[in-house]
Amino acid sequence: MGLGAQRVDSGKVKGSGASPTHQRDRLPRVVALTGAGISAPSGVPTFRGDEGLWRRHDPRQLATPEAFARDPRLVWEWYDWRRQRIVTCEPNAAHYTLVEMERALPPGHMAVITQNVDGLHQKAGSRNLLPLHGDIWTVRCVQCGYRAEDRRVPLPELPPRCPRCNGLLRPDVVWFGEALPYTVLNQAFAVVQAADYMLVIGTSAVVQPAASLAVVAQRHGAQLVEFNIEPTPLSEIADEVVLGSVDETLPIWWAEMAQRWGIKR
Ligand SMILES: [Zn+2]
Repeated sequence: MGLGAQRVDSGKVKGSGASPTHQRDRLPRVVALTGAGISAPSGVPTFRGDEGLWRRHDPRQLATPEAFARDPRLVWEWYDWRRQRIVTCEPNAAHYTLVEMERALPPGHMAVITQNVDGLHQKAGSRNLLPLHGDIWTVRCVQCGYRAEDRRVPLPELPPRCPRCNGLLRPDVVWFGEALPYTVLNQAFAVVQAADYMLVIGTSAVVQPAASLAVVAQRHGAQLVEFNIEPTPLSEIADEVVLGSVDETLPIWWAEMAQRWGIKR
């Protein structure tokens, strides 16, 4: 729109005379960083503690490139078991609140960075999503790089084979000792630097890069708001700490913010 081109007020907007688009653009930029705590109310096990034990194997020994090279079938049996435990889980009110925020805010004003691989943000409908650790419902060929979604539970053949080159397929997740996907990580740092609000949800954010993301957001002027069941090391630097189950606390926080920001829900 050139100089002098003025939007004709339709009469629907009261007050300042600014166009609806202009007012919407003034809404804050929000980024959420989520971890296991957002999926716990959905019944997703952490796969770390006792509840995650499978045939007495330590997950840290199984989720590695070395274990996969040694025994791809064993690693896949574990992932197939995990997929069977997750497939019936549904997103909860916290996942859906993030979707609602994305729909209410202007395009590009809301992003979700997640450490989870369970696919519940995708299932809930989040679109601007940065999965730092990959996705358990995607397979990737170790030979030719073929990548595809595969939601079959259980998988008919273990280990699954690439339809293109017959190479081994692996879960498209980040294993211990592997680097995070570079592009996703770069995008994550870009969105936290531009954020007005950084919501840390269901993660203590003590591991990297989560810890850095929170600190970088705050240094760039974002309000750091933590949602966890109990205080964490992050609580000391957070601007606001909201304790409780995140499927209960996040919808309440959002309702208050939506009202403050003049968003009709
Ligand atoms: Zn292949």
